[in-house]
Amino acid sequence: MDQTYQGSCFCGAVELVVTGEPVAAGYCHCASCRSWAAAPVNAFSLWKPESVQITKGEDNMGVYHKTPKSYRKFCKTCGGHLLTDHPAWGLIDVYAATIPTYRHQPQLHVHYQETVLHIKDGLPKMKDIPKEMGGSGETLPE
Ligand SMILES: [Zn+2]
Ligand SMILES: [Zn+2]
Repeated sequence: MDQTYQGSCFCGAVELVVTGEPVAAGYCHCASCRSWAAAPVNAFSLWKPESVQITKGEDNMGVYHKTPKSYRKFCKTCGGHLLTDHPAWGLIDVYAATIPTYRHQPQLHVHYQETVLHIKDGLPKMKDIPKEMGGSGETLPE
């Protein structure tokens, strides 16, 4: 049976479950993630939509999109962040911090050209995003 991971917003009004394994995981350094999360990086895990289920409080979720690439969803009560829908890729970023029992296993860093926090962990540092996701595929030094 597939592994499941429970998650919730800061106050618990919204709960979700993700099932199986993420398609990819890593850290995003882009200015949008940093500004929205009020944090120097976003630890992301990307899942197929069928792996993500909102189990409580779906009508209590707000959504904001600055670009059509990223629909950022949060709890209307506490403002806690839950996930970002990436419709063009058909993937959902469930923030690693939202699902505490999931062990984050990062494979790469993305949008490293925008970094404010250099992380010397030996993982690839993509200038923007991988080629197969529409980026340059270029890497930068740590
Ligand atoms: Zn909440
Ligand atoms: Zn980002």
